[in-house]
Amino acid sequence: MEYRREFLKKSLWSALALWAAPLGVWAADPTQHIVKKGDTLSAIAKKYGTSIKALKAANGLKSDTIQVGQKLKLPTSAISGIHVVSKGETLSVIAVSYGTSVRRLKSDNGLKSDLIKVGQKLKVPGGGSRGSPAFLAPVIAATNRVRVDSNRWRYIVCHHSAIEAGNAEVYGRAHKRRGMEHGLAYHFVIGNGKDSGDGEIEIGPRWTNQLRGGHVRSTRVNDSGIGICIVGNLQNHAPTRRQRQAMNELLDFLAEGHTRRGVSVTVHKRVDKNHTVCPGRHFPYGDLDRFA
Ligand SMILES: [Zn+2]
Repeated sequence: MEYRREFLKKSLWSALALWAAPLGVWAADPTQHIVKKGDTLSAIAKKYGTSIKALKAANGLKSDTIQVGQKLKLPTSAISGIHVVSKGETLSVIAVSYGTSVRRLKSDNGLKSDLIKVGQKLKVPGGGSRGSPAFLAPVIAATNRVRVDSNRWRYIVCHHSAIEAGNAEVYGRAHKRRGMEHGLAYHFVIGNGKDSGDGEIEIGPRWTNQLRGGHVRSTRVNDSGIGICIVGNLQNHAPTRRQRQAMNELLDFLAEGHTRRGVSVTVHKRVDKNHTVCPGRHFPYGDLDRFA
């Protein structure tokens, strides 16, 4: 009896859904998109703020061909949830806790400024489940203890270490031996799993003491540039997936509120032209395009 009732209820609902969905009466399943006439992957990607690549990956599609009526799973990052702003929260805190950026939050919510109010509802990616800011947690903790004059930092410069081993401490000792009074020339070092964690962001004394960098030739850029070093020789291979994710989380964090507006996010060889190949030919240069 119980089973029968359950069955009837289910069939009734699905009949209703079938009838109502094309009319747009029925609230669509927020985790999928049903392909309509004239839909293309690129239009669908644009609608949900995702990419063709992510859509294809979420659905195991080999080609760009889709059919009317086909159900496409939306990538987790494209599914929006709702966050209600509580006291003391800023856009940057909310962005970090959902593993997204202030930029994305503002564009998803049509916000023109960084001002939010207690009780305000914000669309957030990831279905509303808070992602873990795994890579950023130590950076946030360390940065909360210092006073950052964001106007001072006009550049963020990415480097590779050009060797497969080492970590902040090892490089710090080497730089001290080379006569750098403040040791480690970079502000941050992103590990490759050998002498520090894979994707672990180590924070150097130049960040905790808000000191100038020593990572490029140009005095001007050292004075006003934050240095990030990715452990590994990226002339020979790409950074690990976790290193790349950590780097991107760190770049978003620094660019959104800890550096001057319009900060130049760049790489060593673009600063010291003709003097270095750093950060190597396998560095993901395209990841910096979003700051241009
Ligand atoms: Zn370099």
